[in-house]
Amino acid sequence: MPKKKSEGQYDVIVIGAGPAGYVAAIRCAQLGLKTVCVDNWINKQGEPALGGCCLNVGCIPSKALLESSERFHQLQHGFAEHGIHCGDSRIDVPAMIERKDKIVHRLTSGIATLFKANQVEWVHGTGKLLEGKRVEVSGPNACLLRGEHIILASGSKPNELATAPVNGETIVDSSGALEFSTVPERLGVIGAGVIGLELGSVWARLGSQVVLLEAQQRFLSMADEQIAKEALRQYRKQGLDIQLGQRVTASRVEAGKVTVSYEGGDGENQIVVDRLIVAVGRSPCTEGLYSRESGLELDEKGFVDVNERCRTNRPDIYAVGDLVRGPMLAHKGSEEGVMVAELIAGRKGSVDPDLIPSVIYTAPEVAWVGKTEQDLKSAGENYRVGSFPFAANGRALAMQGGVGLVKLIASGDDDRLLGAHIIGPNASELIAETVLAMEFSASSEDIARTIHAHPTLSEAVHEAALAVDGRALHTVNRAR
Ligand code: FAD
Ligand code: NAD
Repeated sequence: MPKKKSEGQYDVIVIGAGPAGYVAAIRCAQLGLKTVCVDNWINKQGEPALGGCCLNVGCIPSKALLESSERFHQLQHGFAEHGIHCGDSRIDVPAMIERKDKIVHRLTSGIATLFKANQVEWVHGTGKLLEGKRVEVSGPNACLLRGEHIILASGSKPNELATAPVNGETIVDSSGALEFSTVPERLGVIGAGVIGLELGSVWARLGSQVVLLEAQQRFLSMADEQIAKEALRQYRKQGLDIQLGQRVTASRVEAGKVTVSYEGGDGENQIVVDRLIVAVGRSPCTEGLYSRESGLELDEKGFVDVNERCRTNRPDIYAVGDLVRGPMLAHKGSEEGVMVAELIAGRKGSVDPDLIPSVIYTAPEVAWVGKTEQDLKSAGENYRVGSFPFAANGRALAMQGGVGLVKLIASGDDDRLLGAHIIGPNASELIAETVLAMEFSASSEDIARTIHAHPTLSEAVHEAALAVDGRALHTVNRAR
């Protein structure tokens, strides 16, 4: 449980206990710094809980539902191929949600245990940075804290759309989409980004007819174009109706249904859905986080302005995670938290923005790190590409996962690995090898000369590395 009231002087005050803030707090305490963490999260049971968005309504609950829904989907559509036949199957949505809640509870209380073990003080309340390295805590535990160093980690919140205001019932944000009590017959999603695709997949696997309305013409513009194209093909094959270049102009709720009006290349259209998810990006939580007198500056996009070491414009004040520039990813925030803790303790610390992996946890999974082919092409770089399809990987076929590919991009000058792009089974795990390789400035030849166990999915990474040099063994090499 959080401390009722805390006063006084600390080495470090952390505001926010998401994966950026709680990790920073634990690392500070490990380094011998007297640390307090102020957080205002209230969970769906109405209790203070640590872990922020990630553990409560983000990474973890979404992955729990992705797992349950994929198992149901396999039961209905995948098992027969193995000769496994089952009787009538049905999904018990409340039981699925309860399982998700148990995992969330286990993990969030695990952070409380870690705080206790590391002697991080937890104060439940809303923190506000004041002038002179002071933090005012409001709420039932109102108090004033003083710190030698302050780490801001207040995270982000979902963007709102004036044309589709969230009402918590028929029109929901990502948190609401984790709590449906039944499977909506027709589900609309505004935004075919990471959240739209993951949560759209959850409900589609359970039987919803899902339409995703995406404003951009290009699908997954942050990913490698070839991989994004393959992902779009696979998602559409699964029945996700992804409509690109569509702008939502209005929505109307009537008799428990939502009529969504939108316009795109083919003029004006309407869909009627039972539930609508708005997933159009997130914005940093800066409101009420600092007083004007604190002198804290934001950047032109509204994030807290920081340098590459996450230092703000104020001495000894740092900011990490979704609150600052860069991808809004839990592991990016955590690494920034560790870096800042190390810097405060007088050690070295850094985060390489080019080596932050991204993953979309759909089936197939999509994962990447480093430069895309279009990045390199437009920069006029000399590069070589090697790719390998999972359709030629024995383990993938045994797992019923023979779709997608591994694509590695290496420098045409010195063979250094510049990017890795994977769509296929367990891409989220496979990407780690390539991140490590890039961290060590490995070449494609280093991966090609590394022995990979047989039969494994990782052999596809090995073969893609061989393919960079035109010597893949289990596919026909094509000169690129
Ligand atoms: P947050 O997790 O947002 O935590 C901030 C904390 O600060 C919260 O507890 C908040 O209540 C508290 N707070 C805010 N203001 C104050 C204040 N003034 N005083 C005190 N406390 C305050 N990322 C991944 O890497 N992988 C995934 O699979 C993934 N899945 C996601 C799925 C969904 C549905 C969503 C919404 C996000 C997902 N993300 C994922 C993104 C990930 O959740 C965020 O990048 C991550 O949580 C950011 O961490 P953070 O610590 O910066 O902020
Ligand atoms: P996103 O940026 O991934 O996708 C939002 C999409 O909405 C974009 O494609 C954008 O073009 C589209 N869009 C914006 N305005 C629109 C409009 N008016 N009409 C139609 N489309 C519109 O953001 P998200 O999916 O909301 O996720 C938020 C953040 O959470 C992301 O930064 C993501 O990194 C993080 N997240 C990560 C994971 C993961 O790592 N697996 C999972 C979920 C969320």
